[in-house]
Amino acid sequence: RAKARGRQRYELFDEQLRLEALNMLDLESEMRRALTRSEFEPFLQPIVRLADGAVLGYEALLRWRHASRGLLLPADFLAVAEDTGNIEQIDWQIYEQVFSAIPGLEDAQAYVSINVSARHFRAPNLTASLLDLLRAYQVHPSRVRIEVTEGALLQDPEQAARTMLSLRDAGVLTSLDDFGTGYSSLSYLHRFPLHSLKIDRSFVAELKSDLSGSAAAVVRAIRALAGSLGMEVIAEGIETTAQCDALMRLDCSIGQGFLFALPRPALELTLAS
Ligand code: C2E
Ligand code: MG
Ligand code: MG
Ligand code: MG
Repeated sequence: RAKARGRQRYELFDEQLRLEALNMLDLESEMRRALTRSEFEPFLQPIVRLADGAVLGYEALLRWRHASRGLLLPADFLAVAEDTGNIEQIDWQIYEQVFSAIPGLEDAQAYVSINVSARHFRAPNLTASLLDLLRAYQVHPSRVRIEVTEGALLQDPEQAARTMLSLRDAGVLTSLDDFGTGYSSLSYLHRFPLHSLKIDRSFVAELKSDLSGSAAAVVRAIRALAGSLGMEVIAEGIETTAQCDALMRLDCSIGQGFLFALPRPALELTLAS
């Protein structure tokens, strides 16, 4: 009987896998169609100086305006896009829209930070392709930044460092995203020409006003590390004034979050002015 139950469980598991695979096939073919219909678009969320809310730049965040499912978030499809390799094409469609929006932004100094998936970051021609696109849209490299997660650094650190160096030489700065959630081997950080560390929002969410607790300790440690390596720190996911105050007391002066602004369609930010 135990065996039968085991088999049943196995079949259930099997069925679930089959459904997941089907769903993935659906998503994948819809994704390829969406690429031809330009359903992917960037939203922009301001990155601000915490003390006075002045906008320093924006982060471009991918959205899928799906014909029947509505507005989809990365959590709904990014994994499939990465597994199928579609993410590269999606990313280029996003970058193209971002670059074409930059000249129309109200603030002529503000930069836009774009997310590059780990596997895409490993492409050896990334820098050259980005520079070509910047040239095509007549955007100065200083107005664009790159965000990568730790995953992009680990598989081939030498290649990652070379890419960052060539980007920096061309004037494009790099940030390490979601810092503190990955492998976070502090020993490797100095090998990468990174401009900023983005403190993951899970630490910001758990910050206590009196700065007790482990989240404050982690933020303090990241701040100290960044300071000694000459890197800037950006806090993600700031939702309350208490979190913002705590961050400033921890000497973190730049951040983004719903407290300041939600991500909005790039088109709205450029047409509004
Ligand atoms: P991320 O790069 O860490 O982006 C920050 C995420 O935090 C965004 O989620 C943003 O909407 C969300 N966020 C901002 N402020 C707050 C806040 O105050 N509270 C909370 N709870 N969340 C906040 P989103 O847009 O869903 O993006 C999720 C992830 O998808 C991004 O994380 C990034 O890793 C990836 N992603 C986004 N756009 C792109 C893209 O164009 N290309 C690639 N390859 N990945 C992207
Ligand atoms: Mg990011
Ligand atoms: Mg992040
Ligand atoms: Mg994050």
